[in-house]
Amino acid sequence: MNENENLTSHTPMMQQYLRLKAAHPDILLFYRMGDFYELFYEDAKKASQLLEISLTKRGASAGEPIPMAGVPYHAVENYLAKLISLGESVAICEQIGDPATSKGPVERQVVRIVTPGTVSDESLLQEKQDNLLAAIYQDNSGFGYATLDISSGRFHVFECQSEEAMQAELQRTNPVELLYIETFSAMSLIEHRHGLRRRPVWEFELDTARQQLNLQFGTRDLIGFGVEKEVKALCAAGCLLQYVKDTQRTALPHIRSLIKSSLADCVVLDAATRRNLEITENLSGGSDNTLAAILDKTKTAMGSRMLKRWLHMPICNRTILGLRQQAINDLQLSVANIQPLLRQIGDIERILARLALRTARPRDFARLRDAYKTLPQLQAMLATLDTPHLTQLKAAINQFDTISDLLSRAIIDAPPVLIRDGGVIAPGYHAELDELRLLAEGASQYLDQLEVRERSQLGIETLKIGYNAIHGYYIQVSRGQSHLVPIHYTRRQTLKNAERYIIPELKEYEDKVLSSKGKALALEKSLYDQLFDLLLPTLAEMQQSAAAIAELDVLTNLAERADCLNYTCPRLTDKMGIEIEAGRHPVVEQVLSEPFITNPLTLSPDRRMLIITGPNMGGKSTYMRQTALIVLLAYIGSFVPASAATIGPVDRIFTRIGASDDLASGRSTFMVEMTETANILNNATDKSLVLMDEVGRGTSTYDGLSLAWACAENLIHQIKAMTLFATHYFELTQLPEQMSGVYNVHLNAVEHGSTIAFMHTVQEGAASKSYGIAVAGLAGVPASTLKRAKQKLKELELLSKQSAGSHVESSQLSLMAEPEPAEVELALQTIDPDSLTPKQALETLYQLKKLL
Ligand code: ADP
Repeated sequence: MNENENLTSHTPMMQQYLRLKAAHPDILLFYRMGDFYELFYEDAKKASQLLEISLTKRGASAGEPIPMAGVPYHAVENYLAKLISLGESVAICEQIGDPATSKGPVERQVVRIVTPGTVSDESLLQEKQDNLLAAIYQDNSGFGYATLDISSGRFHVFECQSEEAMQAELQRTNPVELLYIETFSAMSLIEHRHGLRRRPVWEFELDTARQQLNLQFGTRDLIGFGVEKEVKALCAAGCLLQYVKDTQRTALPHIRSLIKSSLADCVVLDAATRRNLEITENLSGGSDNTLAAILDKTKTAMGSRMLKRWLHMPICNRTILGLRQQAINDLQLSVANIQPLLRQIGDIERILARLALRTARPRDFARLRDAYKTLPQLQAMLATLDTPHLTQLKAAINQFDTISDLLSRAIIDAPPVLIRDGGVIAPGYHAELDELRLLAEGASQYLDQLEVRERSQLGIETLKIGYNAIHGYYIQVSRGQSHLVPIHYTRRQTLKNAERYIIPELKEYEDKVLSSKGKALALEKSLYDQLFDLLLPTLAEMQQSAAAIAELDVLTNLAERADCLNYTCPRLTDKMGIEIEAGRHPVVEQVLSEPFITNPLTLSPDRRMLIITGPNMGGKSTYMRQTALIVLLAYIGSFVPASAATIGPVDRIFTRIGASDDLASGRSTFMVEMTETANILNNATDKSLVLMDEVGRGTSTYDGLSLAWACAENLIHQIKAMTLFATHYFELTQLPEQMSGVYNVHLNAVEHGSTIAFMHTVQEGAASKSYGIAVAGLAGVPASTLKRAKQKLKELELLSKQSAGSHVESSQLSLMAEPEPAEVELALQTIDPDSLTPKQALETLYQLKKLL
């Protein structure tokens, strides 16, 4: 029957559709009809908008035509990719039954559910980005969070109390799909994200979570993972695992442990810092001119993803950092030998995931084979390298000769994309398959013999045997000789100048050929399935090997970068402070056409805060950011852009840089600035590196100055953080006179007449002036306006001097000067408690009280 013509909600087909749709109410249902996947009703409207495909109407349901949209099945991957990138999920419903023999509508089933966070198909993934599924749980004590990278099986859990910490973790992991408990109340944390999925409370139930997780890992309890007490995180992990199982509908053998992410193990970067430092994403959302863009020349996509994870999660374990530094040093001379091999190996991590999910394609097997063929060469290249860490990596990388050999025998050199039509298993791998194929290909010898025999027996020179896809085998005789054919020749087809016949013998042969074709294909598919069974027992070792190769790629890349970009190995010490000689900004130095001016930096317990002044465009932000980036690089184990660096303990990096309106959440620049500032003041410690740029700019001068002043005081007195404080408030340059540990530095500039030259050198002491008008001149502000500005400046300066002279209490002045001591304070100063009798002491106390 033609299903297309019967589109009303009452037809059996539409009822089948509605039944299937009811099982997947929240996601798009792609309903297979012939060569198309069709969508109906609301799905059709949504898809036509998202995919920019036309919305049609067919049939009628109670008088109303049914909205419908469709995509051709052969191009479905493109459409899926687009929907996934928009955070949508899709249930793919295929025809299972045979249309020819079905009475009602063809039997259909949802065969897979494609969701942004669970895809493993190569065509649906960004090669160099992790693709994480996450679940978030909340109760009144805080948040529980779990993430899964289905491509590697990395399954992490995290717990925290504050929204800031949760926001930072969300930003770091940046999941493409996020399951959240329906009672979630901190919606501002997540509402702007793509791929949000609201889940019922019961999916986060703790007992179910424990049971599910133990089942997955084959364990009796979760103590071994150190997560037994992380109840909130477990609730999230349980929901996540259940969701993956529901959508994948297959075993997940590559997910075999749960790792606890702990803030104590890493240098914490909050959300604003991650953004401001432009680690993998620049402020406009692209990837140009980011730290990763400069640093990532890895040769495998899995290496690229690992490097980005490192950059987003600097660690504080100095032993590991030391091992990495050693390895980078050791690798420096071998880069040119190792990198081409790594390139040949490629992204086996994701291939292994598809293997585990049993969705690997023929080319995945071929690539795994080629990768493993390269391993002996790689091991040979690594043979002479023997720092402890590289030795460990070599052991993990291993060599999979048996698998390499098996795949070489099993898979042809360049297999087709799909197993569907066969032609994947190599000849010689399986004797029966070879035989069936020989038959299927119609051992032409037999046909040749038949042709010769018939031709001579019947005396028909024009007799030929042929084959076409519609009519199958035939014996062709020219029209002129067709009267010569014997009676058992049955006519199959009449052409213009020839007749085509079939005879029982040929028909029998044809049946045999056709059935052996089917048999060969079935056998080939089962041999292909067997390959999964043969490889899966070694999955864990192969995954370890892939991870080790990825790490080798990262370390080799860092060695190559250190060499090409002239980085040095930083010294990591226990001693508090940061000492940088001739430091550079890793990104700015690469994009600049002029030479980059290097600058030193010293922070120590006695020199905890630098007040940085200097003209706009002088290089203040660059100097501050380069400090943070050098510290960050040092804490992933990388070499750094400086001629030398000694870096003490750092627990967090904070930045409050630049004005950015967070319009999406409806917060003004000033509000954003203060939120970020509050976060710093609440969370920084004496081991934190804090960058403050232009705090207080978003409000009136006195407000802003007062705030900046108070923040600086807090940072230096209470928090004692290592702070770089760039400011336009010249008043702040007086801080060093009043507090120990605070120093002025400035970025140098030289005025030539009405123009200005930036030297970009950092010098001790405060800048002499702010050069604002000169910079405005450079920017093209008209001369007349500049002239007027200069005039006005003179007036204002005069006014300020006068007011200072006449003791007018300006709030600016009161900020600067110590407040006058009160009478009671003066009295207190004169008291010597040791010389007082108890009675005198009591009297003095009454007197003091009166003075108040
Ligand atoms: P500020 O924060 O003082 O306004 P920036 O740090 O934004 O200044 O620097 C302005 C520009 O000056 C940068 O974009 C860069 O082109 C240049 N610059 C900054 N620092 C240096 C340096 N050390 N060497 C060379 N050029 C620099």
